[in-house]
Amino acid sequence: MISLFSHESVRQAASLLAKSQHVAILTHISPDGDAMGSSLGLRHWLQSLSSQPTVHNIVPTLYPDFLSWMPAADTICVFEKDPEQACRYLQEADLIICTDFNEPYRIGALGERLVETLSDRHPPCILIDHHLHPAAFADVVFSYPEMPSASELVFRLVRQWQSLADFPVLQQPLTLDAATCLYTGMMTDTGNFSFNSNYPEMYEIVGQLVQMGVDKDAVYNKVFNAYSADRMRLVGYCLYQKMKIFPEYHTALISLSRRELYRFNFRSGDAEGIVNMPLQIKDIYYSCFMREDKVMPAEQVFANGSKTKVKISMRSQGDRPVNVFCHDVFHGGGHKNASGGEFYGSIGDAVQLFEQNYTNYLLNI
Ligand code: 5GP
Ligand code: MN
Repeated sequence: MISLFSHESVRQAASLLAKSQHVAILTHISPDGDAMGSSLGLRHWLQSLSSQPTVHNIVPTLYPDFLSWMPAADTICVFEKDPEQACRYLQEADLIICTDFNEPYRIGALGERLVETLSDRHPPCILIDHHLHPAAFADVVFSYPEMPSASELVFRLVRQWQSLADFPVLQQPLTLDAATCLYTGMMTDTGNFSFNSNYPEMYEIVGQLVQMGVDKDAVYNKVFNAYSADRMRLVGYCLYQKMKIFPEYHTALISLSRRELYRFNFRSGDAEGIVNMPLQIKDIYYSCFMREDKVMPAEQVFANGSKTKVKISMRSQGDRPVNVFCHDVFHGGGHKNASGGEFYGSIGDAVQLFEQNYTNYLLNI
């Protein structure tokens, strides 16, 4: 397998990994399969090293229920629930690793603690990510926006670290738990290998993970066939009552207010995948899903007095970027075909903003 990485960065990170005793691994807000997979996969491998580092995973907000089966998910420190513990782990860390996000603000108030820790105490920091334009906060940066998942990046990096003859401590094989986590991230960030997945090396990696004992069919079932009845009814409601189609622009928009979410007992993760569904319609190439949420105390500084905010998710097919639209209109960004953003205000205002702007950004072909 060809290495993507500069030899120097691989070695620099290897020397940090080999000597660290207290590692904190951070990943993004509303952790998805790749956030969980890349950060937990790395944790399982690090914990198997003969140097026996203590490794703590920290997430800004709780992961969805359908990822709670992931090995060691129950040991993750959730900043929103226990900020003191999360800050203790940051304080103790002699190495901080960030996976699957590119800027401290993408991890909310935990990002502020991260920035404080880095500027007060200067622990080394490694970033492993696949989003465009990483902010300059880490000492060693593995940023590959062309990679479909951060989990695949972790797999490729571990392979590189294992091959360094002068770092025998890193020559540990991936454990089954590590392999299962990395597979989960690769699977979820490619929609079960249905987008961003057109190159043979990905399947070589999948082959190696299955060889290590990963039960890919079981992972699929645990992730994709584990929804609640409420979530299924919510999907039905979205598609039947809430999907607006803009035919000239091949676009669909679904928006949900807090009241509607409450009606369906909305839980974290229940919205997962809804944004992709309108793309199943012939001639629909763009899809946008918006949901209203309440502003958390730590976000009030950005909220300009608003009590609600709207989380925007967009998807597209082919050569039709949505990241510029999300960046310019919703202060967000992301990948060409999968982006998002946020809007402080009501769901009605967010929909209006979308409708005022989509013709300037989306293609009517
Ligand atoms: P999702 O729709 O799954 O929440 O996000 C899809 C992708 O869009 C993420 O992987 C991330 O790259 C990007 N994204 C989502 N929300 C935001 C945001 O608020 N700001 C930025 N910069 N990117 C976002
Ligand atoms: Mn990812």
